[in-house]
Amino acid sequence: MSEQKTIGQELDRQAWFLGGEACCDPLPTSRVHPYRMVLLGPPGVGKGTQAELLCRDLGTCHLSTGDLFRAAQCQATPSPALSMALEAMRRGELVADELVVEMVRERSCCLRCRGGFLLDGFPRTIAQAQALDALLTEQGVVLDAVLNYELPADEIVARLSGRRTCVKCKAIYHVKTHPPRVSGICDECGSALIQREDDRIETVWVRMRTYEASSRPLVEYYQKLGKLISVQASGSPDAILARSLHSLEALSGVGNR
Ligand code: AMP
Repeated sequence: MSEQKTIGQELDRQAWFLGGEACCDPLPTSRVHPYRMVLLGPPGVGKGTQAELLCRDLGTCHLSTGDLFRAAQCQATPSPALSMALEAMRRGELVADELVVEMVRERSCCLRCRGGFLLDGFPRTIAQAQALDALLTEQGVVLDAVLNYELPADEIVARLSGRRTCVKCKAIYHVKTHPPRVSGICDECGSALIQREDDRIETVWVRMRTYEASSRPLVEYYQKLGKLISVQASGSPDAILARSLHSLEALSGVGNR
């Protein structure tokens, strides 16, 4: 008999990674109404870590477009459109809206995930936000909240340039604030730790400027819709998580689930 899954275990994200007909084996959830959220914030603010912690706590599914593109990097024969997207990614630029929206559209059943969802890295432009609104309407679901993480630029650069990622299980470390037990080796699975190409310092500045120009307007967009919750992203991941959960509970109509 298979062991029963509970909130806190790894989520099956087959439908997100494979798209098409792929189906997930969702976690059982006791929530009457699952959380449906978007995470905003500049690169390196800690969205990925918060996404994982929030998903573990709330049982939501982590839908990251950056993870999709990184997974696509392993494809032996990417389509011409995907090759262009991966080139843009290597330069720290945004992938074209049409392609990103198409990738999310191919996976729009994930927006109806029984456990809810947490979109990380999408939308990144107003055009993507409008496309997301249309997809949510098509799927008959409503966005509960947009968590916007804030941190000064110099702290972000220090965080990103020291970040190391496990090639296999994707666990995240930092050379100063969260080093592995053995330098360059993942504590979890023993695989090598690498610096992501887009975490190199020159690429980090391109990503920051791109964020200011393309994604900062989303803060106002979601504020006007009354969905925005701003969270200070300083301190430990657990402290930021506690702040995020507290803000979510305080949001009228979202708490008591
Ligand atoms: P992330 O891990 O979210 O920082 O994404 C890594 C890279 O993937 C970004 O720097 C972009 O090149 C690309 N990317 C991910 N999501 C999007 C998006 N929604 N729109 C455009 N490009 C994206």
